[in-house]
Amino acid sequence: MNATQSPRVLVVGSGVAGLTTALEACARGHEVVLAAKDALDATNTVRAQGGMAAMTAGLPGGQPRDRAELHVADTLAAGAGLCEEPAVRALVAGSAAAVADLERWGVAFDRTAGPGSPWVEGLEGAHSVPRILHAGGDATGREIQRALLAAALGAERAGRLEILRHTLLVDLLRGPGDAPVTGALVLGPDGLLRTVGADAVVLATGGAGQLYPHTTNAPGATGDGIAAALRAGAVVADLEFVQFHPTALAAPGCFLVTEAVRGEGAVLRDAGGRRFLRDAHPRAELAPRDVVAREIVRRCLAQDGRPVVLDATGLGRQFLAERFPTVDAALRAHGLDWSREPVPVTPAAHYLMGGIATDPDGRTTVPGLWAVGECAATGVHGANRLASNSLLEGVVLGARVAAALGHDRGPLVPRGPVRPLPAAPSTGTAAPAAPGTPDDDGVPLRSALQEAMWAGAGVLRDGPGLAALAGRLGTLRAPAGTDRRSVEDRGLLELARAVTAAAAARTESRGAHAREDHPHPDPALATRTFWCAERHVPALTSAHASDDIYERIPAC
Ligand SMILES: Cc1cc2nc3c(=O)[nH]c(=O)nc-3n(C[C@H](O)[C@H](O)[C@H](O)COP(=O)(O)OP(=O)(O)OC[C@H]3O[C@@H](n4cnc5c(N)ncnc54)[C@H](O)[C@@H]3O)c2cc1C
Repeated sequence: MNATQSPRVLVVGSGVAGLTTALEACARGHEVVLAAKDALDATNTVRAQGGMAAMTAGLPGGQPRDRAELHVADTLAAGAGLCEEPAVRALVAGSAAAVADLERWGVAFDRTAGPGSPWVEGLEGAHSVPRILHAGGDATGREIQRALLAAALGAERAGRLEILRHTLLVDLLRGPGDAPVTGALVLGPDGLLRTVGADAVVLATGGAGQLYPHTTNAPGATGDGIAAALRAGAVVADLEFVQFHPTALAAPGCFLVTEAVRGEGAVLRDAGGRRFLRDAHPRAELAPRDVVAREIVRRCLAQDGRPVVLDATGLGRQFLAERFPTVDAALRAHGLDWSREPVPVTPAAHYLMGGIATDPDGRTTVPGLWAVGECAATGVHGANRLASNSLLEGVVLGARVAAALGHDRGPLVPRGPVRPLPAAPSTGTAAPAAPGTPDDDGVPLRSALQEAMWAGAGVLRDGPGLAALAGRLGTLRAPAGTDRRSVEDRGLLELARAVTAAAAARTESRGAHAREDHPHPDPALATRTFWCAERHVPALTSAHASDDIYERIPAC
């Protein structure tokens, strides 16, 4: 393919980012193949409740009090000094078009009255004005997934999009040296491996909540795309920044109770009934997520492990049922009536700010490889994501990737130095573990890994805990098979080691990364960190290291 030909594109992932990219790429006349390992709607996208942040001032029915500068400022503040500001500006500047595109694809955002009336815009933590569009009350992700999927299935029926269902990305195909990615090795629903050739592979494989035992994420959120990109030589960034949602139901499944509930006035209480967050932050329950999650963990420790409770009893049964039908139904399924009694909540791994380093058009450091959505690290979230910015990112960046495909300006060159990730410890003469093999203590690999990550790289971290975690991960043997479980577990282990290295290297507390032994931000460390598998690092210290790709984005 030369620089202007229409490329054959393989998009991996069927969440908001993958579907948007695929639809936009189809609309631009590209030949597009979309692959997803699970049912097409088994995504994190479908789980999103709170809504999508969007700067709608100037649109009919939009929020007149909002301004681009406010949304940018809120995003930068949440990101704690590590956001790429031009990327944030690109995100906010794209929000009006994102809303229009979604409505064109059939998303019905909630409005105050009939069609054409103002949108209902909710307030969430760390947003300075109400700017959260939602659909079906608290079913925003489900509505976006439904509409985008319907459009994709329509494109498939029209012969404009090929969809590979239940097809797992195993690895990326790439030659030696600076060779581009030429496709992917996938595991089909028939259990057979095959290759899918492509001029451009767009990873939209979502997050990695399954690194932890407590997570709001889908079971398939195992970070496969990030691990595959690392193996292919891509640079990753910001992996130490894992957002823990403060209020998952403290019950099996960790069902998320959206913070929009707190936006509407629900409060958190300790075992003594006190609103303990009022002591911790001026915005109390509407403080940034990391602050709320940390205070909950500290309060739980102080009250012998008993959970704190979310008290929404002041909001009224009818309001709760109408505004939060999904949460209401889930809580009732657990036998809880939140209109009458507070419900126990716990932090849970929720969103990975880090991922495959990209520019604001989704270019990675590897030619032919693109990344978008939660698996990418564009720098828009910095050290902590502003609530409800990720659905927006999937739509805005998905469209930007599609527009950039076929206009390849060469791979991304990271802003800062790239550090080598420690190689996996040698197993000596020991063979790789068979799929699902328990470790020496008889614990299945995934459970052992998750428990170790929760203890060592959870909400609160410190140097000795991270060192112990690195040691523990070093004792776990990666399975060798190409079955789904082995591919996922191998990737989780690679990613866990990378998260641990990044968390150990950041000897400060910033955003979602909280070190008990370094409780304050260190101005000397106010930079993003970039990492790469050890054997790929030399190729990246190139003469182009001073290029600043972010300067290409116009200010909004
Ligand atoms: C409970 C919950 C609530 C949330 N609420 C909000 C909210 O209110 N607002 C907001 O903005 N954000 C919210 N988020 C975050 C947001 O939903 C996600 O960040 C976003 O939807 C991610 O979209 P994505 O397309 O990148 O990934 P996903 O939607 O997770 O899609 C990933 C896709 O990749 C596929 N995949 C993964 N690995 C492979 C592989 N190896 N081979 C093939 N396919 C693979 C999966 O099957 C899936 O199709 C929430 C997240 C959760 C979990």
